[in-house]
Amino acid sequence: MKIIENAEKLNEYRGGALVPTMGALHEGHASLIRAGAASGRPVLVTIFVNPTQFGPNEDFARYPRTLDADLKIAEAAGASAVFIPTVESMYPNGLANAASHAAQFSLPAIATTPLLEDAIRPTHFGGVCLVVSRLFDLCEPSLAFFGEKDFQQLRVITQMVEENSSRWKSLKIIPCVTIREPDGLAMSSRNRYLDPSQRTSALGISRALQSAANYSSVAAGEKSMRETLDRHGLETQYAVIRSETTLCAPESGAKFARALIAAKLGEIRLIDNASVGISFING
Ligand code: AMP
Repeated sequence: MKIIENAEKLNEYRGGALVPTMGALHEGHASLIRAGAASGRPVLVTIFVNPTQFGPNEDFARYPRTLDADLKIAEAAGASAVFIPTVESMYPNGLANAASHAAQFSLPAIATTPLLEDAIRPTHFGGVCLVVSRLFDLCEPSLAFFGEKDFQQLRVITQMVEENSSRWKSLKIIPCVTIREPDGLAMSSRNRYLDPSQRTSALGISRALQSAANYSSVAAGEKSMRETLDRHGLETQYAVIRSETTLCAPESGAKFARALIAAKLGEIRLIDNASVGISFING
């Protein structure tokens, strides 16, 4: 497996499978890399803790950085190369310019769906779209793999690519299912911040998502999720049931909807989501 620090060395991976990450890799990331390898194309993993997608009071400085372990995980999962760009190469006009560009990024509509990530992290998707477009331009992949774990992000990037089909002509976004710990907690780089009692409380998130499926109306499902989160000592930021495609209220007649949660345990913010079936929507 090659380690690439200079974008000029990316040529041989053009048309390959891209797996963008911020490092602190775990089995969730490994599943994306394995899916990339299964496509038969060379897999380029990128590791870049992107400053423009963090808000001023967020955890950029203390985001986990575990490069040695990341390289082992990437190689074992089948990566052909890992691209580790510098801030300067990603943002050649300077970080301050990039941050203001991110704040003005013309976002796909789905990035501004009321009361989801955008409401709580107003500059987040600007930074995500900026860094992901830069990676697409530099790496020119034909497939790019993203996790459903960050469901709104997946939808935002998919929509951004659809809206820019002449810029990224043959690029296809491949969604990958969320990988969980055996007890149901969605794997996340931020889980390593949890102390043992917070780790127990964090289980309330996957339990809340499961509880949503037992109710016969959106309002009752959302109430059940909020109550489950409360019972586990989690501070709810949102716990909602939305259309899988628009992320607005579910359409009647849809086969599935998405239950989506963001919740905090002290300073640690966790997100998760799950599909909810048709009997629930139509109930
Ligand atoms: P991150 O390093 O957190 O920015 O994530 C990089 C990619 O890995 C994103 O596409 C995430 O959605 C995906 N990812 C993160 N956690 C998981 C998980 N538990 N299962 C599947 N994909 C994941």
